[in-house]
Amino acid sequence: MDDKKRLRDILSRLRKEHPEAKIALHFRTPFELLAATVLSAQTTDVQVNKVTEPLFRKYRSIAAYAEADLDALKKDVSSVNFYNNKAKNIQGSARMIIERFGGKVPGTMEELLMLPGVARKTANIILSGAFGVNEGIAVDTHVNRLANRLGLTRHDDPVKIEKDLMEMTPRAEWGNLSHLLIFHGRKICQARKPKHPDCVLYDICPSRDI
Ligand code: SF4
Repeated sequence: MDDKKRLRDILSRLRKEHPEAKIALHFRTPFELLAATVLSAQTTDVQVNKVTEPLFRKYRSIAAYAEADLDALKKDVSSVNFYNNKAKNIQGSARMIIERFGGKVPGTMEELLMLPGVARKTANIILSGAFGVNEGIAVDTHVNRLANRLGLTRHDDPVKIEKDLMEMTPRAEWGNLSHLLIFHGRKICQARKPKHPDCVLYDICPSRDI
């Protein structure tokens, strides 16, 4: 089976297995998704959602983040890793959005990458989750692990993995592929103890004996 057919098979099996797969971060606006995604680096989505619930109640607009007292903002997110930098990046992004992008989160990869703390993964999540635009595939630790275990890539570098996945996946499925691999990685194909016997991909997985 060629790569594209295999990928289609994987997608169809995972879709049946995880019909609930979607972004786990809570947000109401593109900027809230940006803030949640920045906070999610090296932190679980569950922890981020706990922090953003009161955060989003307190800061009701992009201007509120831009004008916030930075120490107060740091304190508001202090239960996540690297909160100092994350708070600075959230405020820096808010300020740049107001100054350069007319107060609206930009909707292109090129512009999003100008924002502090926003790299390709974050930009892909914002584009897909907030704007419904498939510009690339968000590669996090789960996507990285599963793409390698499933033999969809031989790379460890997220940018190269993303390129490999984009070549074999129909564009309309780019966002879904990321969610499905993340769900499967959390529930079945876990880093330390993958549950091979429970896996719907067992018969087509080159790593079923690891
Ligand atoms: S068979 Fe095992 S290694 Fe392969 S995807 Fe399933 S859980 Fe992961």
